[in-house]
Amino acid sequence: MSESPAFPVTHAFAEIGEILQHHQKFVLISHVRPDGDAIGSQLALGYALMAAGKTVYLINEDGLPDNLTFMAGAEAIQLPPEIPLDVEVAIALDTATKPRLGENSLLAAANARIWLNIDHHISNPEYGDVNYIDSTSPATGQILYQLIRALDLPMPPESRDAIYVAVSTDTGSFQYPSTSAATYRMAADLIDHGLEVGNLNSLIYDNYPFRRLELLRELLKTLELSASGIVASWELRDQIRQDLELMPEDSEGLIDTIRAIRGVFVAVFFEELPDGRIRVSMRSKDPRLNVCDIATEFRGGGHALAAGIRMPGPLETAKQQVLGAINRHIQAAGFPS
Ligand code: 5GP
Ligand code: MN
Repeated sequence: MSESPAFPVTHAFAEIGEILQHHQKFVLISHVRPDGDAIGSQLALGYALMAAGKTVYLINEDGLPDNLTFMAGAEAIQLPPEIPLDVEVAIALDTATKPRLGENSLLAAANARIWLNIDHHISNPEYGDVNYIDSTSPATGQILYQLIRALDLPMPPESRDAIYVAVSTDTGSFQYPSTSAATYRMAADLIDHGLEVGNLNSLIYDNYPFRRLELLRELLKTLELSASGIVASWELRDQIRQDLELMPEDSEGLIDTIRAIRGVFVAVFFEELPDGRIRVSMRSKDPRLNVCDIATEFRGGGHALAAGIRMPGPLETAKQQVLGAINRHIQAAGFPS
């Protein structure tokens, strides 16, 4: 057993702690089209700071998505105001590049003199004045759990539950290989402190709108498997988005359905956006097939096993280019094709 304390105050945590302690007014921001880790991270750190007596604004370019309205305290998430907020410190959470915070959010944070950047994306270029990037962490929510415990910040129920939602949604319910013993210890500690695990899981995973299943039905009609059986893909046309009146978050996590096919190592989701651009979502089951590297070829990014791209259309061209690049990587990695 290690003799070191469970929650060591590393140099970077200490530096962040100093900034949190010596300032009063904060704005916390996460990425456009926020997911559970983005909103969860904002609520986790936001409510901890509020409980410590700070003034805290929580803003997101796209506001609070429908599927996360169940989260305790989520009403604090606001659209960015049109004039800059009166804040001293801006904290970017779970956001790989500064532009992914959104133009309006950046404007709202323009008065901040200090930028903190806390994230788990390996591609993060450290755009803050103080950066804490841990790409081994499965979710930004887990970094914030460690920060809150290390600095002995308050952990109100909103923060406790938000950390769980952040980590659960970013690990495919504690399944992806980035899930570590520390992740399970964290979850146990949160449950020890009153988190209702069955109740919260039910709110996250047993609570989908019917249209999400209608979307799944449409996606299944387009399912394709490569000749080798290694790549599975499906696609969403904008017309179907309109017909089913889909919300951006309706597709979140559906890609895991095709990632789960036996023999499949790369799953790809092509989505026609209303502006004609194509959103590509990729998942890998094998570290030898690094989908972040493939995404980077198209100016996207993310993690080794989960990455994304926004690229020009039309859909057919984007598909051809991305599937071509994936095939090259599969061959280079020595997989049979
Ligand atoms: P998802 O497929 O769930 O949208 O995203 C998977 C991962 O890839 C996330 O960590 C996300 O931050 C990253 N990602 C998704 N789309 C893009 C993109 O267009 N650009 C960059 N840089 N990263 C992306
Ligand atoms: Mn994340």
